[in-house]
Formats: sequence, structure tokens, C-alpha cells
Amino acid sequence: MAIRRICITGEPVLHQRAQEVTEFDDNLRELVQDMYETMDKAPGVGLAAPQIGVGLRVFVYDYADDDGNERRGVVINPELSIGEVSTEPADEDTEIEGCLSVPGERFPLKRAETAVLTGVDLDQQPVRIEADGWFARIFQHEFDHLDGTLYVNRLAEPWQEISQDIIADNGWGKPGLSWLPGKDKLEA
Ligand code: ZN
Repeated sequence: MAIRRICITGEPVLHQRAQEVTEFDDNLRELVQDMYETMDKAPGVGLAAPQIGVGLRVFVYDYADDDGNERRGVVINPELSIGEVSTEPADEDTEIEGCLSVPGERFPLKRAETAVLTGVDLDQQPVRIEADGWFARIFQHEFDHLDGTLYVNRLAEPWQEISQDIIADNGWGKPGLSWLPGKDKLEA
């Protein structure tokens, strides 16, 4: 197992549609183990394969709900069905999102309150999870990664422009940039 480097926005793999997994082999198991380890070390509540430079439709998540239940797992070749997204502005305190590929930054974003995730696990067994609130937000964020969409691409103004300025100021938005959890220090 290994902690992998996390790609920063601008790396092409983050901005392309990832491919379906067709080989459920030891390489896939190793990839998923590395994704768990990298997510835990970052730390993050989710990580999609393109974020470590692998253009496959896989993400992992780890989220403790308000009742203290830990929801941790992997989904491969997922589909996501979401509820309606309110047209109200995102709340600047309670609807703030972040991404390990835009490290250290957070911006308000409206998401659907509910989501139903389906797909398969490493043994090709069906996965079906109904989520709401933050858990549903995590699924929407990670699923977007598999279609080459970052949350900053979805922001409303003024956040869209502010985020693009910050990305430019940080020297991001070009290929070849990454960071290593546990090693590289990032300013929050
Ligand atoms: Zn992300």
C-alpha cells in the first residue's frame, strides 16, 4: 500500500471523463487500498481515482453522520440520481465545500439534499446507498470528479470568479502540479 500524490486542478486527468472499470483484478484492489490510505492521510471525506492520476470510474468515501455512524466504502462504475437543487444562494456558513485537488480553499455551493448512489464494489456486488445532507453532498462531489467536473466549476458568482483568481494566484490551473499527503504542508 502507498500514499499517492494528489493532482491539483489543471492536471488533464481531473478535467476529462474517467473510463469504466472493466478489470476487477489485483491492480484494482491495490488502487482502492491506496485511495483509502491517501484519503485518510489527506485527510478527506472522499477521493476519486482521477485525483491520484488514474482515469477510472472509482471513488472512496468515509463520512461519520450526526449519530456517529461511520459510512466508509468504495463504489465502482457508479450512477447517481439526485434530488432537485434549490435555486437559492448557497449558505456561506453551512454549505461550504472543499476539494483535495483545490487544496486549502473552500467555497459555498448549493447541492441537492438527497442522492441515490448505485454501482458495484470490488467483488462486483451491487452497491445501493440512499444519502441525504452532507453524505449526499460527498457523493455529488466525488461523482462529478468522474465526469471531469470540479466543484469550483459549479460555483455561482461571485465565488466562481474569486475561485478562479485564487487558482491563478496559487499558480495552479496548469498540468504537472500535485501534493503528497503527510509530506507537503498546505495552508488552510
Ligand atoms: Zn474533490
